[in-house]
Amino acid sequence: MGKITVIKSLALPILIQSLTVLPNPPDDKIKEIQNIFFSFLWSGKPDKIKRKVMIGLFENGGLKMPDIRSFCYSLKMTWINKLLDPLSISPWKTLLIDQYNRLGADKIWLMTPDGIQEISSNFNNFWKDILLNWNILNTVTNDTAEGIMKQSILLNKSLKINNKTIFYQRWVESGVFFIGDLLDKNSNFFTLKEFCEKYNLNINFLEYHSLLHMIPKDWKNLITTSEKFTHISNDKFEFITNNKKSCQFFYRKFLSMYTERPTKQEDKMCEELGTHIENWDFIYSLPFCCTKNNKFSMFQFKILHRTLATNALLQKYGLKETNLCSFCNETKETIIHLFLECNLVRNLWLEIAALFQVENNLTLILNVENIVLGSESWDISLNLFTILVKYYIYTCRFNTSLLTLTGVIAMIKNSYQIEKISTSFYRSHIRAREKFDCKWELIKNIVHM
Ligand SMILES: [Zn+2]
Repeated sequence: MGKITVIKSLALPILIQSLTVLPNPPDDKIKEIQNIFFSFLWSGKPDKIKRKVMIGLFENGGLKMPDIRSFCYSLKMTWINKLLDPLSISPWKTLLIDQYNRLGADKIWLMTPDGIQEISSNFNNFWKDILLNWNILNTVTNDTAEGIMKQSILLNKSLKINNKTIFYQRWVESGVFFIGDLLDKNSNFFTLKEFCEKYNLNINFLEYHSLLHMIPKDWKNLITTSEKFTHISNDKFEFITNNKKSCQFFYRKFLSMYTERPTKQEDKMCEELGTHIENWDFIYSLPFCCTKNNKFSMFQFKILHRTLATNALLQKYGLKETNLCSFCNETKETIIHLFLECNLVRNLWLEIAALFQVENNLTLILNVENIVLGSESWDISLNLFTILVKYYIYTCRFNTSLLTLTGVIAMIKNSYQIEKISTSFYRSHIRAREKFDCKWELIKNIVHM
């Protein structure tokens, strides 16, 4: 996490300027930059966790490692803000605006993907990139009346006359752009006369009817039986017109296209635990909302991603001769054995559970799922506590020292003091203090602080 912070705060800012004002770098350059970052992250060694997972959000099993591609694309989106903002006046707009208005002005952003693709060739490389990046997030719906009414008539590959898409300049100028523009307020298609009057256009019967004819029958059935949607827009367009800062919004949108959940690990974990787990979002976020101490968050993160060095894993990679448990030396040291099933470890948990019963009048359910992954039915306090105990077990394994109740308590007291000191600034705020105290309440009772 420290290295990711370094990348975010020291390396990324160097790139912002060039990625904002220049066309997108070629794909291999983006990859090269990404390689540099990942090589720094893993200290030049091979990646231990898939890149597509690492760039994800905490709740998806990621660590929010910056994704250069999404970063570059989302920076470009900020230009659309400037373009759509009537109050922002700059010389660059003058260069663009003629062409932009001729092709439909702001409506361009609401065209179908193939329409935007085609229209982008009218712009310079920089704006072409912006249009094509926008298009990555673009979708089109044909199975709802709303989706159909919102489709552009112009340059729409589903609407062809003589096997060609259409683009009529006069129509753009008169405001005929979307299928919805062909409908009266009762969702019936305008007659030729009504159409010409409404848009002040002079077109003939044949032209108008070949247009109506090109709209698929099932689309017509769907829209004429539905209410008319007058507000033609989409979530991205709404966001960008209502918010001055859109970079983060778009970063997340692009990220969702390129990120992946570690489903393989999830399946393996379910198999080992012998249960089916639904709430992975919660399980992945837990280590980060339990504690601000990265040492503990990363420890739990490694357990979830199955990269924690147990003897079973170390032997698999040829780093240790035995895969037997460091405590009992009898059974294979897997994550489940190490943190729960080993007799020595189990005894420690039983001692702890007894303490909980006495001090907090609380029965601690010691099943594999709760101990290894955390539990949604437990509060933050208990979940933090299990992470701390596991950390203690792991340090004992590492130092080949004995597991004792006094050892756990001493270690927990120590972590409490560290977190208390390091969050002292936040603790001057009442709500932050309440949160902190609430988090440690149950734990404080049993370790007598
Ligand atoms: Zn053991």
